[in-house]
Amino acid sequence: MNLERYRPVIPGWSAFLDAASRPEPTVFRVRTGRISAGEVRVRLEDQGYRLRTLDGMPDFFQVEEGPRPVSFTLEHWLGLIYVQQASTGVAAPALSPSPGERILDLCSAPGGKTTHTSDLMEERGSLVAAEVNEGRIRGLLGNVYRLGHPNILVVSVDGRAFPENAAFDRVLVDAPCSGEGTLRRRGGKAPNQSERFMAYVARVQEGLLRKAIRVTRPGGTILYVTCTFAPEENERVVSRVLQDAPVELAPLALPVPHAPGLTSFQGEAFDPRLEGAARIYPHHLDSGGLFLARLTRLDDGTSPGEGAWSPVPRVFPDDGMAAEEADALVRRGLDALEGHFGVDPAVFRGLDWVARGGRLWLHGAQAWPVEGWTPGPWRAVALGLRAMEFDTRGRPRPTNDLLTWLDAAVTRSGVDLPDDAMRALCGGTPVPWGEELGGLLALRYRGAVVGRGVTTVDGVRSEISKAQAKDLAGIVDGAGPVSAPPSED
Ligand code: SAM
Repeated sequence: MNLERYRPVIPGWSAFLDAASRPEPTVFRVRTGRISAGEVRVRLEDQGYRLRTLDGMPDFFQVEEGPRPVSFTLEHWLGLIYVQQASTGVAAPALSPSPGERILDLCSAPGGKTTHTSDLMEERGSLVAAEVNEGRIRGLLGNVYRLGHPNILVVSVDGRAFPENAAFDRVLVDAPCSGEGTLRRRGGKAPNQSERFMAYVARVQEGLLRKAIRVTRPGGTILYVTCTFAPEENERVVSRVLQDAPVELAPLALPVPHAPGLTSFQGEAFDPRLEGAARIYPHHLDSGGLFLARLTRLDDGTSPGEGAWSPVPRVFPDDGMAAEEADALVRRGLDALEGHFGVDPAVFRGLDWVARGGRLWLHGAQAWPVEGWTPGPWRAVALGLRAMEFDTRGRPRPTNDLLTWLDAAVTRSGVDLPDDAMRALCGGTPVPWGEELGGLLALRYRGAVVGRGVTTVDGVRSEISKAQAKDLAGIVDGAGPVSAPPSED
């Protein structure tokens, strides 16, 4: 769509055009469940980055200056930060998630808002992340594992077909859209989408929003978000739903500059309550564009009940393992973590283990709706963190993800590697080690656990996957990761 059509409705038109034509500054969010914003700041400033805080966005920093992209840092590789547009960082707080709640993100990949929501939930409660695109699910999993969120259940499903057996406290619909708000990534040009695409995507958006309403409990919250300016995908979609769905618009009071939703556009009138929605334009946060509308679910007797939420079992429903066998794996795994790595079991308080595919996953979801699902076009892909594997003799091996997540909780069997040794290990070369070591090891680099190693007759070897090791080698050299996609919204 031609941006000119927005001239009459965008306040500060010349500031809008000016911001849209400038490159967008890099902004990142701190993974607050694992590190404080202050600590990240010190670590990055020590490496020569100059950071600026963002008003109204406490866990975000804008990178003013730095020796290399922030996605080249060890902090990014470790999942302590997530590169995210400032505008999209407004969405998760606008959903108002609280610890212990049941939350659904209906369009979640690559996981910027999902992982932000999880941090705001302090990782307590159930967060279901749905996504239809298998390729994008891989990116989502990569981010969930890298950031280390134990309470996220990733589900492969078309959001419009999401099972309706259980009600959520809050549902986020970050809908697919024409993406005009990302115009700064295209040199200020909005993507040129056809009328046909716009009509198609609006139908998908309305279908997703209606589904979100059906699976929200009375009194619960639905947040509808797009990153486009097009009223056909924003106010028109919400207006249509307000006409007949059991919802009321809950006006947004955002802590950042924004404009109200539109009540008319090019002669078309929208529900006047849409004034309580919010539009963020590129000049508001020196970022992208975002539309947000918050709805409250009314009680018309059609919301699914509480009943379908059940405790997560010890074994995934599609796995053949007996619960007693899984219990034994958990005991062996915990013993190894305590005995060999000196991990105090208290770090797992509030978390539990579920077996699938011969592996243990660490999760914090107190309940899930999965067992009430009848067979259908949906699949629970992963819950929490891949945490513990077992070798052919049944001996437990904590995964790289778990050791990295545990970090300082690993108090034994760790080795601190200087640059040269880390570089050699990433290249597959063992490093001779004089000290008395045995069995599995936690490899530590610049003070952080980066993965698993093992003692061999030739010295220490890395058991970090080849792809991860290549990325890590790029970080040691300052050239940046080669394969890991940088996090984004
Ligand atoms: N929430 C994500 C984040 O913050 O990182 C960005 C979501 S992006 C705007 C929209 C996502 O919806 C895409 O990953 C797309 O594949 C997915 N999607 C499109 N149609 C869908 C559908 N019918 N059901 C579920 N997901 C869908």
